[in-house]
Amino acid sequence: MDATLRARWEQLRGRVDDACRAAGRSPEDVDVLPVSKTFGPEVIREAIALGLHRFGENKVQEIKDKALALGGQEADPSIDWVMIGHLQTNKAGVVARLAAEVQSLDRPKLAVALDRHLRAENRVIDVLVQVKTSDEPSKYGLDPDQLLPFLDELAGYPTMRVRGLMTLAINTDDPDTVRGCFRRLRELRDTAAEQGHDLPRLSMGMSGDFALAIAEGATEVRIGTALFGSRTYPDSYYWPERT
Ligand SMILES: *Cc1c(COP(=O)(O)O)cnc(C)c1O
Repeated sequence: MDATLRARWEQLRGRVDDACRAAGRSPEDVDVLPVSKTFGPEVIREAIALGLHRFGENKVQEIKDKALALGGQEADPSIDWVMIGHLQTNKAGVVARLAAEVQSLDRPKLAVALDRHLRAENRVIDVLVQVKTSDEPSKYGLDPDQLLPFLDELAGYPTMRVRGLMTLAINTDDPDTVRGCFRRLRELRDTAAEQGHDLPRLSMGMSGDFALAIAEGATEVRIGTALFGSRTYPDSYYWPERT
């Protein structure tokens, strides 16, 4: 067992708990989603030994490779792969087969493709709708104006259980601007609730900004660097618009 990963995990969980208490919330109400992108199966095995079993990934190919390495032809049912990156419709089939959850559902065409493949696989998965909460030009994330019609549409797909919303905050050092993105997601959730859409989960906050997200109501923070260490690929590899 890698003492470093254990120490990092305990330290991180402690920081998340502190952020909850500072926000007047219970640490039990905020989960950590470990983001294992770029890290190989051996690191994921160490994380499993610590009791972790859900892993966020940004690229379909990485889910495919790691599921194969860790589970063989049949994906290991004790590992929940969570797709958090931009998903092309032509890769929806792999996700429908291997992922336990998709947090980056951001457009009607993708919902159609996922539904078709999930039916073929005879599977039902949890999904979060990714919403664009910054005015930064971005290809990813649903326009907030489209949220209510999209939720109405998703209600017609029994293959996907819509559990909440996900966002990426604007890429800036200004904490007020970042916090504004998280507040916006919470407000969108509250508006949706008034329209009859129950969305208990808010996935927001990463290594550098999770305390702000927790203060605004995150139920789940997605953490890569603060748990697994820094990545060798720059973030522009994952988010082409972030250079
Ligand atoms: C990589 C990634 C994260 C985690 O980022 P860190 O800053 O390393 O914690 C969270 N969410 C998404 C969508 C990501 O791609």
